[in-house]
Amino acid sequence: MTDLTNLGVKDIRDGVAKGDFTAREVASAFNAAVADAAALNAFIVTTPDYALAAADAVDSKRAAGEPLGAMAGVPIGMKDLFATDGVQTTAASHILEGFTPRYESTVSQKLWDAGAGMLGKLNLDQFAMGSSNETSYFGNVASPWKKAGSNAAMSPGGSSGGSSSAVAARIAPAATGTDTGGSIRQPAAFTGICGIKPTYGRCSRWGVVAFASSLDQAGPMARSVEDCAIMLGAMAGFDPKDSTSLDMPVPDWEAALNSDLRGKKVGIPREYRMEGTDQAILDSWEQGKVWLKDAGAEIVDVSLPHTKYALPAYYIVAPAEASSNLARYDGVRYGLRDLPDGSGLQDMYAATRAAGFGDEVKRRILIGTYVLSAGFYDAYYTQAQKVRALVARDFERAFEQCDVILAPTTPTASFPLGSMNEDPLTMYLNDVFAVPASLAGLPAMSVPATINADGLPLGLQLVGRPFDEQSVLNAGLAIQQRADFTAKPDKWW
Ligand code: GLN
Repeated sequence: MTDLTNLGVKDIRDGVAKGDFTAREVASAFNAAVADAAALNAFIVTTPDYALAAADAVDSKRAAGEPLGAMAGVPIGMKDLFATDGVQTTAASHILEGFTPRYESTVSQKLWDAGAGMLGKLNLDQFAMGSSNETSYFGNVASPWKKAGSNAAMSPGGSSGGSSSAVAARIAPAATGTDTGGSIRQPAAFTGICGIKPTYGRCSRWGVVAFASSLDQAGPMARSVEDCAIMLGAMAGFDPKDSTSLDMPVPDWEAALNSDLRGKKVGIPREYRMEGTDQAILDSWEQGKVWLKDAGAEIVDVSLPHTKYALPAYYIVAPAEASSNLARYDGVRYGLRDLPDGSGLQDMYAATRAAGFGDEVKRRILIGTYVLSAGFYDAYYTQAQKVRALVARDFERAFEQCDVILAPTTPTASFPLGSMNEDPLTMYLNDVFAVPASLAGLPAMSVPATINADGLPLGLQLVGRPFDEQSVLNAGLAIQQRADFTAKPDKWW
């Protein structure tokens, strides 16, 4: 039998349905691969029994001739930001260590309802704050990729770095991610996989540990555009429990996949030609244009004039919302409680939060509290919201001239763990191309484009109109078919 761990979502689902192999065989193969890959530190907890139980349920359904779901028999990794009933949910923080929810997030429940199983909870940057997976309380995640000629452990990107590492290493066929300002797309680009952040509101935020509520969106990470289309279909949908959930039907993205782009216009935003971007990334962007032209699209220049203000605005809005959202972790209701002898309530709050949050999380809380303070609110928060509106308007105007935008996902390839920690600002720059679409709430995807001279993957980003995930997926498919990205990391773990 072919090695089942090389298969993706579609091949597993179809193979199980046809009877080529059982869901239990698939789950067992991935459970073994996960157990064998502890060196990546991609998982905070593994749940092999959950994967097997879900697989057995699918195998019994098939035996009984009952209809199977869109993810039937596919074991996946769940980013540890999604609350999972009975399974520890930490957001990779000490403050939530040992917290076991008694409820299931809407997105994870939808995936289980579609027949997926859970391999475990994936590591991430603490509270999804970071771009390298170095802020987790549970240790760094390593990318399965290495730079040619070097043995240094590389960053899988962040914050969904456990997800990207696991999928690229083929210890999971797919994983959930969340994207507040790039956390699906940047890790996907760093590890040579696909990841799509849908339109804000497509996937319910209910039961997802909140970072910045007006930006947070869940999405799939997998090794092909088709697999992302299938999994996004299973994750998306209206949820009355999330007040910002989109009350719109979920299109059948998989069925409508079509890489013939004749009649479509692809916009190239001139402001994305930024200093500090690797030449290899600029070259792959040029190559991307050629591919999309070859698929029938017309390439047009567009302007997104407020691009350079997007990142600074994001680093005001996101910490502001985070400082408010994270106020709930006070030692009273969840996880850690630090109650020094003879101390009072205020001391308990302070001690719990001092011990429970990592440095990056504290930095965001401080910045957020500052920009929301009475004296500085107008100077920072109100200004940032205005910039956000201008960034969104730039996209609206650009989409009068094109159907989808092509841009790099990141300015550089992955970097060695530990090499970028000196200055938080250089770390924040990782998301310079990702954040504008987040501020505007638009669907955006990263697809693998090529391998650079160091042997590391590079990604290309596609951004679409609100609700038009289909155009993003279709253009992604056109790139996938032409990029023919078959490189795999060599197994060292
Ligand atoms: N890297 C960005 C940050 O640290 C984005 C994180 C995310 O999208 N969750 O805020």
